[in-house]
Amino acid sequence: MKSSIYGLTFEQLSQWLEEQGEKRSRAIHVWRNLYRSRVRSFNDMTEVNAATIAILDEHFVLETLTEHTRQQSQDGTVKFLFQLADGNLIETVLMRHKFGLSVCVTTQVGCNIGCSFCASGLIAKSRDLTSGEITEQLMQVQFFLDAEGNGDRVSHIVVMGIGEPFDNFEHMSSFIRTVKDHQGLAIGPRHITVSTSGLVNKFKDFTDSDLGVNLAISLHAPNNELRSRIMKINKAYPLEKLMPAIDYYLEHSNRRATIEYILLRGVNDQVEHAVELAELMQSRKTMVNVNLIPYNPVDEHSQYQRSTQEDIRAFYDTLKKHKISVSVRLEHGTDIDAACGQLRSKQLDKASNG
Ligand code: SAH
Ligand code: SF4
Repeated sequence: MKSSIYGLTFEQLSQWLEEQGEKRSRAIHVWRNLYRSRVRSFNDMTEVNAATIAILDEHFVLETLTEHTRQQSQDGTVKFLFQLADGNLIETVLMRHKFGLSVCVTTQVGCNIGCSFCASGLIAKSRDLTSGEITEQLMQVQFFLDAEGNGDRVSHIVVMGIGEPFDNFEHMSSFIRTVKDHQGLAIGPRHITVSTSGLVNKFKDFTDSDLGVNLAISLHAPNNELRSRIMKINKAYPLEKLMPAIDYYLEHSNRRATIEYILLRGVNDQVEHAVELAELMQSRKTMVNVNLIPYNPVDEHSQYQRSTQEDIRAFYDTLKKHKISVSVRLEHGTDIDAACGQLRSKQLDKASNG
């Protein structure tokens, strides 16, 4: 089977052309046609000669994803359900902010981390996405924007769709190298955020890499007892392992990190939890921003409810009082099941119920 051209970084494309007996320097023309002109067929590559087009066509494909469903929210959020070549379904979400357009990408089909509040974790991972499939999600969204004709460009990426990016580290890294390449899409690394549930064994690789992107950590609880209850990954990587891994990142990257904290009513959203979280963050407070995430109800997880506005406010105020930088995540597309994994799990439901 031919592989996706979007799976190659610029370096790999240059190398591949050389191996085919082509000039390495041709890569830039191919690259520009892919990511600047955004052709939909190799034949449309105006900067590339016919012979090179022929060998590209012989070995690669441009599009492997097909749009299964697309939903648009009143607030402009667009949710895409894509079908992969093997029939699996994944989600990609476009969000419109004041600061630009961001896309949330999926990295795996399902997720093995199985957090108790998450729709994606309901379905075990069947496979990792290739870097080509991750990059193509972004391209498909950009094609959609190109077709709208307003000159809109995706400016930000969040790696927060279905899957655990640190469990698909190589493909995720390759995707980032491709989209940040300044001769192509040129999405600034500071506009890219990778979110992990805390796979401690990958923090060093991530920190020591040349990726230079932002990191968000799904902490969700201030102590082991509570964290293990809602995230089973905490049994393998409890706070005494996770916090030093975060500190390694903070010290060596010299970047701030985002601490994500989902608010589950009556479970982890009380003032006492906020105080405990503030204490945990105390020594790191100049280096972290806490992002409070109102729980997006998932039918299968009916044991959880969304926190009350008063509790969210009190949690926020408590962190502020302790001089912790904190924000509450704005929601996008709640009318279209835009929370991660939700549209996909509904489609699978429909399929299994006939
Ligand atoms: N696997 C990674 C990235 C994907 S999940 C991770 O867990 O960090 C992205 C974010 O969405 C995580 O912070 C996750 O905890 C959160 N999330 C999962 N289910 C949610 C729900 N039902 N409501 C709100 N946020 C949710
Ligand atoms: Fe996987 Fe993240 Fe969902 Fe947990 S929250 S099950 S790690 S996608």
